[in-house]
Amino acid sequence: MYQNTEEVKVLRDPIHGYIHVSLQVIWDVINSSWFQRLRRIRQLGGANMVYHCAEHTRFAHSLGVYEIVRRMITEVPDIAASLSEDEKVVVMLAGLLHDIGHGPYSHAFEQVTSTSHEAYTCRIIEEDTEITRILEKARKNLSRDVADVIRHKSRNPLLSQMISSQLDADRMDYLLRDAYFTGTTYGEFDLERIFRTLRIHDGSKLVIKESGVYAVENYIMSRYHMYWQVYYHPTARSYEYLLHALFNRLKDLEDPDDPALIDLFRPIAAGEEITLEEYFALDEYSCGYGFESLSRHHDEILRDLAVRIRDRKLFDYADSTPEDNRRLRRQLKEAGYDLKYYWGRDLVSQKPYVPYTGSADGAIWVRMRDGSTRELSNASNIVYSLIHGPVNDDNKVFFPPLK
Ligand code: ZN
Repeated sequence: MYQNTEEVKVLRDPIHGYIHVSLQVIWDVINSSWFQRLRRIRQLGGANMVYHCAEHTRFAHSLGVYEIVRRMITEVPDIAASLSEDEKVVVMLAGLLHDIGHGPYSHAFEQVTSTSHEAYTCRIIEEDTEITRILEKARKNLSRDVADVIRHKSRNPLLSQMISSQLDADRMDYLLRDAYFTGTTYGEFDLERIFRTLRIHDGSKLVIKESGVYAVENYIMSRYHMYWQVYYHPTARSYEYLLHALFNRLKDLEDPDDPALIDLFRPIAAGEEITLEEYFALDEYSCGYGFESLSRHHDEILRDLAVRIRDRKLFDYADSTPEDNRRLRRQLKEAGYDLKYYWGRDLVSQKPYVPYTGSADGAIWVRMRDGSTRELSNASNIVYSLIHGPVNDDNKVFFPPLK
């Protein structure tokens, strides 16, 4: 039913070797302007301020997720046999498009503009964009079916499990990719072994064979290490705090007609909902230009924050304790800083694995040798101790260096 490309297209990738495309609809989506926009959005918000090679993009990650899904539906016999040809195309497209709604510096930007990348993802797929038209041309209602997988509303729950659960193509790609580009080895795990031990249980549940438990334990540990060493690195969070403070200042000035502002930032300054057309223009290239222009702005705070972002003049950080915070805030006030922008607190915590709680079922299941299934924390001592130990968290404050 779906048209093939004239020959198989192969794209070189340092994580997967090659990414293979043989369907015209996949190729057309990759070549659409919305998908090409992902080249201008980095995968890791502030991590490149710590790990200087972490410049890889959402574009590369999205292709990687697609390739993992493509391999799952061709190389895992249970999955290959249980999905229809149409479902295979739908789930590959969902993998390819799962991050299409990401904005620049995702989290700092999302907090200030109250946008969610998930909502934009479904809008870009369904609201008559170039991508919607490509999907609808390939098959009527294909855009709705792809969006349904992303919002967990698909008729076949297996499709959502493949791209969004605790053992999914999304996480498997970003852990390996982020480990590679940051130069940390913590994120590495045995993807091939996981592929070999993936099965389908009762027609709709993705499980891992008991003999694959060690590979999954390794994957959970790599996730744990990547969070603390990379994603939650305080220097990366310090950079993200600066972005957050700058976008907040822009909003607080409430002056969208300010002639010193480039058009790109006007909807943010107006506190308005950002249209799809405006969203398209917001990427890390255009924001970089925007910050450069703000480095000459008449508002001193905006100017200072923009220069700090441009030149990596980051805030210091310290553990947050009530006593130190009081002292610090007093000193900053005396030095003339507006605490709304020049003092910020950020608490992060992370559970490497969340066991099955009865509702949102993203848990990992293991098929034991006797044919029964067990939730991962009941099949692995390591995972059991990880989730029953104290919760790891980190409460930090960020502030300009005091002389
Ligand atoms: Zn992703």
